[in-house]
Amino acid sequence: MKNLIKNFLIFFTTFLLIAAVFSYFSGNGQKSEVVGIDTLIKQINDQEISQVAITGNEIKVTLKQGQSEVVKKEAGDTFSQIVKDYNIDPSKVAAIKIEVKDETGLNYWLGVILPFLIPFILISVFIYFMLRSVQGANSKAMMFGQSQAKEIGREFKDKVIFKDVAGVKEAKEELKEVVEFLKNPQKFSEVGARTPRGVLLLGAPGTGKTLLARAVAGEANVPFFSLSGSEFVEMFVGVGASRVRDLFRRAKKSAPCIIFIDEIDAVGRKRGSGLGGSHDEREQTLNQILVEMDGFDPNTNVIVLAATNRPDVLDPALLRPGRFDRRVILDEPDLADREAILKVHSKKKPLGKEVSLKRVAERTPGFTGADLANLLNESAILAAMKNRKIISMEDIFDSVEKVMMGPERKSRILSNKEKKTTAYHEAGHAIVAHFLPLTDPVQKVSIIARGQAGGYTLKLPLEDKHMYSKTEYLEEIAVLLAGYVAEQEIFGEVTTGATSDLRRATGLARKLITDYGMSETLGPRTFGDKEEMIFLGREIHEQRDYSEKIAEQIDKEISSFIDVAAHQAKGVIKTKSDFLEKIVAALMERETLEKEEFEQIVGKKVKPESSVAK
Ligand code: ADP
Ligand code: MG
Ligand code: ZN
Repeated sequence: MKNLIKNFLIFFTTFLLIAAVFSYFSGNGQKSEVVGIDTLIKQINDQEISQVAITGNEIKVTLKQGQSEVVKKEAGDTFSQIVKDYNIDPSKVAAIKIEVKDETGLNYWLGVILPFLIPFILISVFIYFMLRSVQGANSKAMMFGQSQAKEIGREFKDKVIFKDVAGVKEAKEELKEVVEFLKNPQKFSEVGARTPRGVLLLGAPGTGKTLLARAVAGEANVPFFSLSGSEFVEMFVGVGASRVRDLFRRAKKSAPCIIFIDEIDAVGRKRGSGLGGSHDEREQTLNQILVEMDGFDPNTNVIVLAATNRPDVLDPALLRPGRFDRRVILDEPDLADREAILKVHSKKKPLGKEVSLKRVAERTPGFTGADLANLLNESAILAAMKNRKIISMEDIFDSVEKVMMGPERKSRILSNKEKKTTAYHEAGHAIVAHFLPLTDPVQKVSIIARGQAGGYTLKLPLEDKHMYSKTEYLEEIAVLLAGYVAEQEIFGEVTTGATSDLRRATGLARKLITDYGMSETLGPRTFGDKEEMIFLGREIHEQRDYSEKIAEQIDKEISSFIDVAAHQAKGVIKTKSDFLEKIVAALMERETLEKEEFEQIVGKKVKPESSVAK
């Protein structure tokens, strides 16, 4: 497409040039005024003319004052004919210097030929470019097998170093070794150490795998060949393998260097486990990678970094010693890491004095590095939209909610009845979350629609949590069901607003039983085989590895968990109905309650002894 536009521009410019040349010759480069014959006659009679020059069908007139003008005449007419026809006194004509010129050769011929020549030239140029772009496509087809790896040289502009990657301390520690090896390989070979060949970066999307790989190259100051796993897989079988070969050949030439294969799971999936599809191609590509990695001379300073967020689907052959034997895990950032990442990304952004990145970090559990970078960007956009030069705390908090739940939809007007229903629903969530002992404290309650949700209750953990007990989960389910329960208690029936709550509650209850072994009746085992298969591009997630009878039991157990939780929620809503009414009244009036406003009504959340003692 780009090529097409470029060709068109060249074509257009050529056209303009030719047109300019043409108009130059035909206009003879002079800008004389064109006048009619009657003016000429008048000027002759007034004796204003000093000279005329006749060329073809034109009479060029030079006036005594020095200006010149052009008169067109008919082809057959001569000047003397005109003089005669208009009865001009011959003595007046005698004073004029008359010159008859042949049309000059070049001028004449251009005048005749150009009108024919121009379309011809244009068409030729057009055909030339057409042919050229077809050829381009052809030669690209021939280059298929070559690797498309982008080499980022030593001097690349946006060089990244370890300092730009916040958090992930352990990962950086591990990768420092790799940097050391790239810098002084002799140090290792002298003591007979086999140097790492492949390092696999594992982590959820957005945790900074790609960033960290670039930082390794930046620190070691070596070339960096980066290629994404999916780029190996093309339309034609065999292309992937030849690309791998080409990539490794290029890398060996510029050793020491780093080859970075991003999203390696695209080629490195377990072999022979898929059904149909482009499987052979992937297998060949993977085999070629393995062959190349084995074929390294132990002294080549080439290190292969690869990144994936699906280590579970990788082929075991990739993971054995001598290949990707190092594994570096990038965790989701904890509180301190989040603050550090925010600090890195706020460097070029003017933040208000009141902004506390620590408080932002507290509000964003579960955010990855990419989410946090995006969050700050959203806040900057928000500030710019409000024509401010400085990003405020409010901008950032607004963006947190926007990133989590989609933009506020203030335009959605709720009828009074809907507004009331939503208020009871959200107040139900909030009250139950507040009064159950183990749940996270409420941060914000709102009945302004956001993304898919009609309203929302935001609650956040006080600290990062990695483990949950069954009681905590059941309370979580109770909070999810609280909106439904509140609607039912107050109005006697429920609305569609509770749909996604119910889905999530049911999903969580199922997980407790099938994944976490938290059901007493079914015992400590998991249900359902999560091994993934790909069939016609669709992932089939779960395979049942239990009997029909167990399935029935699971269903029953899910219902009983839900019942317990719903009962718990109902208990809170009934005993705290005065608080519920107060919250609803406040929501109807203000629409949104921040943590402080909420706590003014219900008091501070009381944490049970056991949880504090943790
Ligand atoms: P992935 O793990 O999916 O490859 P990336 O490395 O592409 O994630 O991260 C995306 C973006 O998120 C980075 O460009 C960077 O701006 C930001 N980011 C992620 N992790 C960090 C981190 N630890 N420190 C600073 N920025 C980070
Ligand atoms: Mg990435
Ligand atoms: Zn709800």
